[in-house]
Amino acid sequence: MAPVQVRTQEFPRASSRALANGRVQQALTNVMGHFDHAREAAIQELTPEVWERYRERGREIKRHAMEYLDFYLELLSERVEANGGKVHFARTAQEATQIVLEIAKALGVKVAVKGKSMLSEEMGLNHALEEQGIAPVETDLGEYIIQLAQEPPFHILAPAMHKTKEEVGELFAAKLGLGGLQQIPDMAAAARKTLRERFLQADMGITGVNFAVAETGTVVIVTNEGNGRMCTSLPRVHVALMGMEKVVPALEDLSVMLRLLPRAATGQRITSYVTLVSGPRQPGDEDGPEEFHLVIVDAGRTRLLADPELREALYCIRCGACLNTCPVYRKVGGHAYGWVYPGPIGSVITPVMVGLPRARDLPFASSLCGACREVCPLKINIPLMLVSLRRRLMEGAPGERGVSWGQRLLVRLWSRVVASEGSLRRARRLAAVFQRPFLRRRVVRWIPFPPFSRWTRNRDMPGLARRSFHELWDRDLKTTGRSKRP
Ligand code: SF4
Repeated sequence: MAPVQVRTQEFPRASSRALANGRVQQALTNVMGHFDHAREAAIQELTPEVWERYRERGREIKRHAMEYLDFYLELLSERVEANGGKVHFARTAQEATQIVLEIAKALGVKVAVKGKSMLSEEMGLNHALEEQGIAPVETDLGEYIIQLAQEPPFHILAPAMHKTKEEVGELFAAKLGLGGLQQIPDMAAAARKTLRERFLQADMGITGVNFAVAETGTVVIVTNEGNGRMCTSLPRVHVALMGMEKVVPALEDLSVMLRLLPRAATGQRITSYVTLVSGPRQPGDEDGPEEFHLVIVDAGRTRLLADPELREALYCIRCGACLNTCPVYRKVGGHAYGWVYPGPIGSVITPVMVGLPRARDLPFASSLCGACREVCPLKINIPLMLVSLRRRLMEGAPGERGVSWGQRLLVRLWSRVVASEGSLRRARRLAAVFQRPFLRRRVVRWIPFPPFSRWTRNRDMPGLARRSFHELWDRDLKTTGRSKRP
């Protein structure tokens, strides 16, 4: 079973490549603004005051659910089993994969249709199924496209947003033998026709879970294409994969969560298809699977739960709003982050899941502007968590540190300089002399040696002002005749 590829160490180089890639830049410009405007319009329609109340309520639901997670997971498990389903707990992504493979093998599954599931990306499930001779077929259109292209998702909501329609047309011609498709509706119709056949062949449907209601043992799947519903109703067996943080206590909590998620994600009032599954088909039901399995996965989530500074990351409902608004994600896109979850929330979750030293650049992939927290429907304080991870990288035990001794030395020096007014003035004077050879029209375009070369390779840096704040302060105080220092 091939492990999921972790390329988080490549973030600096991968983000530089993305910045230089005109196609990626164009896709990001086209799509990101659209998501942001749609979210804003949906909130205005509801009124910001009402939205704020839903956010508070949603946050409280998640806080409570995480506080009593063991209780609600047990309740969920009992209720699912009482409804005729089977519950499996997996400590790791590998264990979860093994469980799915065993279910598939026992039933002789040859084709498995899949709804969108980021957890299955964590598990590297497609690869594992293929190795066992089982054909996994992604049925969300974006996921289907990137499966054909053999690429990881670019965005947690819009996995193929970086692909132009021409590229998708070429992909369909090469992989499906469907040449000559030029318009998006024609491509969507062709994909639908191909996927319908696969739905009918499939013995197993695999989906993610957006929410799991403990009191009723119900899993909730939201999609815009109806593919989730087909995955849960057509095949003989339905396997639902859920991260353990997806549990909510009661059915009425959905009235909050199902308002927050679509508005924050795509600016919709409600997602097109909301599917509630409470176990296998019952006598008298018109459709539904003969078997229902719920796989509840930890895979690093209990580490987040046990960490008071990072626990809030478990409130995330994967709406993608923080990605859409983040100035870093909006420039480098999803592949640069090197693992399943990109963007601001990915920069918190990934270091915990794959190991902080391995993902040491991600907590720094943020300007700490706070936009992610502002748009997050659950008000998750992402900037604070990023600062906490940065601190750990600085203070970690030797061997676990995520920063080099040179970086540590620089930060130490910097903190000394800024701690004293005199040394800050002297450092500024020195920097003003140092910058002179590199100044062009008061902008530093490029400094050819590290660490400045990395910073200036892709950005211009405003030169230091002719007069420092200290000098202006002193001069103004003199002209107003007040004492020199407050
Ligand atoms: S952190 Fe908040 S904004 Fe980002 S994906 Fe999660 S819920 Fe959405």
